Amino acid sequence: MNLVTLVQHSTQYYLFDTQQGKLMFDCGWPGELAHFKEIARRAGIKLSEIKLILCSHYHMDHAGLVQDFKNMGATLILMESQIGAPQTLNEYMLKKNIPMTPIKDEDHVLLKFSESRAWLAKLGLAGEIISTPGHGADHVTLILDDGSAFTGDLPPRFLVTEDQTDAIEAWNRIHEHPIARIYPSHGPRHEMYPNYNQESA
Ligand SMILES: [Zn+2]
Repeated sequence: MNLVTLVQHSTQYYLFDTQQGKLMFDCGWPGELAHFKEIARRAGIKLSEIKLILCSHYHMDHAGLVQDFKNMGATLILMESQIGAPQTLNEYMLKKNIPMTPIKDEDHVLLKFSESRAWLAKLGLAGEIISTPGHGADHVTLILDDGSAFTGDLPPRFLVTEDQTDAIEAWNRIHEHPIARIYPSHGPRHEMYPNYNQESA
């Protein structure tokens, strides 16, 4: 897997090569396109190479540049649990008076979780996208068959308390897959202990 990590402020953005250009997991801080372009340039990437966008969830540091990228020709993949989430973010930004290009409720590809494996396969990526509430109902995790899990803002498993049933359920779902390493949106990547499974947690 040819993985590139871009970092803008405190948030990490993961780029994958696909047969249709680069897929980016999460999409920048609002109003910071020029800064993002410079960060990408330093990594040897032109923004025009980024053809597909998938957001772990619709908070401002994960989806702030979605419409800017759509305007440049990228396609947004909206998961079924994320319907309406871009508009909720638009309203929040308006209320807080933070400038962001509002995300239009059009020109995206709406994808069911059950279809994600076949859809990723068409791009040449082996893996799937699963629903992982625990940091908002719209939160999703990208899991690749090489054992990588891109977990967005899901709280780390060891910080989850017993009353956080959504997050516990999300981690249980993630660990139904043979995960070798976790890539969160904030903080360092971490490797799983060999043969880690939920029972040993
Ligand atoms: Zn968040």
